[in-house]
Amino acid sequence: MAKSILAVTMNPSVDISYPLERLQLNSVNRVTEVTKTAGGKGLNVARVLHQLNSPVVASGVLGGTIGQFIQKKLDETNIKHNFMPIDQESRNCIAILHDDMQQTELLETGPLLTDKDEANYLKHFKNSLDGISVVTISGSLPKGLSMELYAKMIEIASIKEIPVLLDSSGEPLKVSLSRKHKPFLIKPNQEEIAQLIAKPINDFVELQEVLATNPLFEGVEWVVISLGADGALVKHNTEFFRLTIPKIDVVNPVGSGDSTVAGLASAIATGADNVEVMKTGMTTGMLNTMEKKTGFINNDLFNEYYKKVT
Ligand code: ADP
Repeated sequence: MAKSILAVTMNPSVDISYPLERLQLNSVNRVTEVTKTAGGKGLNVARVLHQLNSPVVASGVLGGTIGQFIQKKLDETNIKHNFMPIDQESRNCIAILHDDMQQTELLETGPLLTDKDEANYLKHFKNSLDGISVVTISGSLPKGLSMELYAKMIEIASIKEIPVLLDSSGEPLKVSLSRKHKPFLIKPNQEEIAQLIAKPINDFVELQEVLATNPLFEGVEWVVISLGADGALVKHNTEFFRLTIPKIDVVNPVGSGDSTVAGLASAIATGADNVEVMKTGMTTGMLNTMEKKTGFINNDLFNEYYKKVT
C-alpha cells in the first residue's frame, strides 16, 4: 500500500465565518449564513493533500465537542485522522465579515496543555509513523507545551528517516533549526527570517547571503520563501532558484501557504525531481487563491497552471 503523509496540527480549530451587512457594537447582531469548517494550518494541508489524491492522515491533539466536530468534518470528506484526545476543549476561531469587506477576528488561544500531555503526544506521534513517508508540521503550539516540541518530533521522525516539512515561526522554528536533526524543509517568509536572525533583511541579495551563510540553515535541504503573487525564492542545499508564476484572478488568498506546503509534501512523497517539487508547491498555492474556500483547490486545473510556473 502507498505510504501516507502525516499532516500535524497541534492547535486545530473550528473556523466560524459570520457574514454581516453591518456589525453593530453593543447591540444584537443576527447571523443567518454561518459556515463552520475544520481549521488550523495543518488541516488545510491535509485537505489539499486529499484533493491532490495524496494519501494523508491528519494528526495533532483534539478535545471536547469542538474536537468531535472537527473529526466529523474530516470523516464527511473521507480524510483519515489520528489525533490524540485531550481532556480540554479545542478552540473556535471566529471571523466576522462585515461592512464592505472588513474582517474582524476573534481567535481563542485554545487549550492549556501540560508536560504530561506533551510526553503523551510524543509517544502518540512516534507510534503514528508506521506507513508514513513525509511529515508536515504547521502552525503554532498550544499554550503549556515546550518550545522544543517540534524539534523533538523532528528528531523522532529523522531517526526513522522520515523527512519533516516545518511551517512554523518564532521560537519553535528557531529551536528546530538549532538542533542536530533539522527539518527537511522550512517555509518562512522574509520577515520570519529577519526575526530568526534578529536583523532586518532589505533585499533578495541580503536574504540569499543569510540563507547561504547562517549556520541555522545548514543541513536544511529546502528553504522555501514564498512571496505571494511574486512566486518564491528557494534554496535547495547550496543552489538558489527564483520561481515566478502567472498573474491570476485571486478570490481568497488565505491558506495559500498551507496549500503550497501540501504541494511540496505531495511531490516529495512521490520522489519527484527538484524542479517538480517547487513547481508543484507554486501550483497548489495558486490554485488555492482561485477558490472561495480556505485550504481548497480544484485539482482539475492543476496541469494548466503547473505549465505556467517558471
Ligand atoms: P502565506 O500564505 O504563507 O503567506 P504566500 O502568500 O506566499 O504564503 O502564498 C503561497 C503561494 O501561493 C505563493 O508562492 C504563490 O504560489 C501562491 N499565491 C499566493 N498569493 C498569490 C497571488 N496573489 N497570486 C498568485 N499566486 C499567489
